[in-house]
Amino acid sequence: MSLADDLYRETILDHYHHPRNRGELGGTAVKVEGVNPLCGDELILYLEVQGDKITDVKLQAKGCSINTASGSMMSEAVLGHSIEEAKKTIETFKNMMMSKSADGVLPEEMEDLEALQGVRKYPVRIKCALLPWNTLLEGIEESNNKSK
Ligand code: ZN
Repeated sequence: MSLADDLYRETILDHYHHPRNRGELGGTAVKVEGVNPLCGDELILYLEVQGDKITDVKLQAKGCSINTASGSMMSEAVLGHSIEEAKKTIETFKNMMMSKSADGVLPEEMEDLEALQGVRKYPVRIKCALLPWNTLLEGIEESNNKSK
């Protein structure tokens, strides 16, 4: 077990025990649900978009540590950013998780997300890490449809 592995595990556990942006939103917020039957992860994501900006995001995750931590990190990475930026972040993260090489370059505010790279060693858990991001993508699409 290397030092980097230890740091990564600590980051994941921190987000798991203290998930950021946990809760729910009412009003005009979009609500989407995501499920990962392989692991039993369940996720409800609330998304508030004003103009082209994500002004609020809340998560209710009932899943494993990877799923909860990934959702927590995701909410921090996209909150306050534009839809365009969020989509780019989703793509960067997905590429990082799907690629076999470890040379994904993440923006500075996404440094925590590097911790999830270790998950690539466990293909079954990759779906856990991706669930919040796929759910966010759905939420973005739904809010697009709503504003048309
Ligand atoms: Zn899981």
